[in-house]
Amino acid sequence: MFDKIFVEKSYETNARALSIINRFPKAKVSVIDKIEDIFNRVKKPYLQKNESLNLFLGEKKGQLVKEAPDAYGLSGEPHYYFIHAYNCIYECNYCYLQGYFNSPDIVLFLNHRDICNEIESVTEECSKKGLTPWFHAGEFSDSLALTHITGELEIYHELFSRLPEAKLELRTKSANIKALLELTPKKNIITTFSLSPADKIKKNDLQTPSLRARLNAIRKLADAGHPIGIHFDPVVYDENFKEKYTQLVEELFESLPVDKLEYISVGVVRFTKDVFHQVKKNYPSSELLSSELIKSFDGKIRYNRPMRLWILSTIREVLLNANVDKEKIYLCMEEDDELVIDS
Ligand code: SF4
Repeated sequence: MFDKIFVEKSYETNARALSIINRFPKAKVSVIDKIEDIFNRVKKPYLQKNESLNLFLGEKKGQLVKEAPDAYGLSGEPHYYFIHAYNCIYECNYCYLQGYFNSPDIVLFLNHRDICNEIESVTEECSKKGLTPWFHAGEFSDSLALTHITGELEIYHELFSRLPEAKLELRTKSANIKALLELTPKKNIITTFSLSPADKIKKNDLQTPSLRARLNAIRKLADAGHPIGIHFDPVVYDENFKEKYTQLVEELFESLPVDKLEYISVGVVRFTKDVFHQVKKNYPSSELLSSELIKSFDGKIRYNRPMRLWILSTIREVLLNANVDKEKIYLCMEEDDELVIDS
């Protein structure tokens, strides 16, 4: 998978770094001072990830836990994300990472204990105010895709077992649940799967597991007692979207009893200006560009407002018809639109 592995000097003999390096015996290993000396320094086109990918191992410095943007998760509770990786082995054609870093190379930060300490401090502050903080893993990567190699899940599992007043969301498009299945389910550790109709996954979620594989993973985790959330995000319009989402909802609830669903988010496809530019460059014939898109209330590029409202309310109705509790549905990054739908 990786051509070269760069490991920071201070992690050269680290057990976790060595165990990751040993998984890739053909990769050339170089010892470096700091990740930032090399990663992101020279522009490497996003699509080059299909031909040559490098791996960086080292320490995340600076702020390790950050406040999440508004409407990131269930409203009324503080949301944070933590950073333990940059970039992703998958290639969703709408992914915002293609406009974020200069390079698609994968960075894995190994100072999980430091991240855990910061999560504990934030939880303590929130507890003093009577708040339940949410922590989201995988803001700059997929939370589960490499966990069989990286092995950090048990560290976070141990932490959140000690912090029942805090919640951890592991967000994924993978079906890589091996490491998670080895851990005892916890009420406050929620695995969330991003799903789209099967044909959309094939067209847009490139290199990712199929809908069938993700639904199988959901079934296995739910059977084992792990809490499950779902993201219908991003929704990409096509003229049969209602039928496709109706079928998706039916298939989903064959794998996951509806009363076992923790929550479901719905969000239409959206891009920052930079990402939109990258999408046009990288995927010029993508269906993402076939509908009219406009600059919307927060500067992001989306479908026009009536179309967004129509898509969101249609899918919400499909969910309500499938007996999903109204309180479990939230509209991602669409705060002002939600008010209109709710009224
Ligand atoms: S799974 Fe997420 S992080 Fe990975 S390419 Fe797709 S959108 Fe980007």
